Amino acid sequence: MKIASIDTYDVRFPTSRELDGSDAMNPDPDYSAAYVVITADTGGQGHGFTFTIGRGNEVCRAAIEALAPLVIGQSVDDLGEFAKRLTHDSQIRWLGPEKGVVHLAAAALINAAWDLAATAAGKPVWQFLADLPPEQVVDLVDWRYLSDALGPAEALDMLHAARPGRQERIEQLRRHGYPAYTTSPGWLGYSDDKLVRLAGEAVTDGYRQIKLKVGHDLDDDIRRMRLARDTVGDGIRIAVDANQRWDVDEAVRWMTALAPYDPWWIEEPTSPDDILGHAAVRKALRPSGIRVATGEHVQNRIVFKQLLQADAVDIVQIDACRVAGVNENIAILLLAAKFGRPVCPHAGGVGLCELVQHLSMFDFVAVSGSLQDRVIEYVDHLHEHFVDPVVIRDGAYRLPEAPGFSARMRPGTLHRFAFPDGPEWA
Ligand SMILES: [Mg+2]
Repeated sequence: MKIASIDTYDVRFPTSRELDGSDAMNPDPDYSAAYVVITADTGGQGHGFTFTIGRGNEVCRAAIEALAPLVIGQSVDDLGEFAKRLTHDSQIRWLGPEKGVVHLAAAALINAAWDLAATAAGKPVWQFLADLPPEQVVDLVDWRYLSDALGPAEALDMLHAARPGRQERIEQLRRHGYPAYTTSPGWLGYSDDKLVRLAGEAVTDGYRQIKLKVGHDLDDDIRRMRLARDTVGDGIRIAVDANQRWDVDEAVRWMTALAPYDPWWIEEPTSPDDILGHAAVRKALRPSGIRVATGEHVQNRIVFKQLLQADAVDIVQIDACRVAGVNENIAILLLAAKFGRPVCPHAGGVGLCELVQHLSMFDFVAVSGSLQDRVIEYVDHLHEHFVDPVVIRDGAYRLPEAPGFSARMRPGTLHRFAFPDGPEWA
């Protein structure tokens, strides 16, 4: 199967009108997707996208088009080679390497290729991956720059060691789903009343963890954290997320002030590039028991490797569209398993829940084999635009069974929310 053509779309949703998604660094996001449809010579299609929060989405779309000549005419039978072509082109590599807009664009195309291949095989992506022999999984990863932490031989041993019990784990997912937590109560732009109401509803709906955005005003955060704790009680985990707002000392000071309300983790306390800074925050917060989480803006597997080597994170937060798609996320899942750190994916936005559920399910079935302290973020926005939206029940993601990557937006959505000329924006 070879790629015959690609079509791109700039799709934007006016989420800033309701302050959905508002946090300390992103007060008014318009959730958006630089979206690509690849069509194979068989007539089959694969859909993929990368996520942005509005302005600049057109730059990602242009980058996808700049990468198109590298994939037209290419086979998707070897998705390891396919992914490497996109990240190793000697001229385009100058724009990264392996970071920024070109990497987001590579993610969109690589994810689309996985949707195409899994759809053609009649399997959801998690199962398509889990059914591959460990040798083929190892070949999907670009091992360059990882050998001081993990190499293909050790990864192969890990994957073989994870094989016993996989059928039971699939059955467990089918029965109980994969645990989720919800960020819906905690947007910074919401009133106290809305926070309390949504936090209470989250517990009623079966969630064992919620998340609050913090970092704009300390007095507000102490009040909101106290309200949330009073509402959910002691048995529910409350994570907090600063979205990179602080310097290192400020992060420690701020979180020490919130510590009496028992935050489960602090997410993105500072710059995603600051490995030593995260290590310092983690060390300072150790006595309080507050964990450090990051990853949604970590640009590639090499930075994840360093965060793990430097003991800088407790929780690894992959994102389906920030690094180079499925392939690079497999590398990060393997690194996290090697260092014994749980992976709790970033999701929300538009379509991130739909994609990343497949990676966590694959991790449980075939890599880490564990659900201990693992949860996938869930945000209840914009799922109605997908052909196969995620299904949440009793605070858990149900196992996706439809073929592909759950990535396809409805044709009406691609038309209505096209920027700037679709009916929603014109
Ligand atoms: Mg976050």
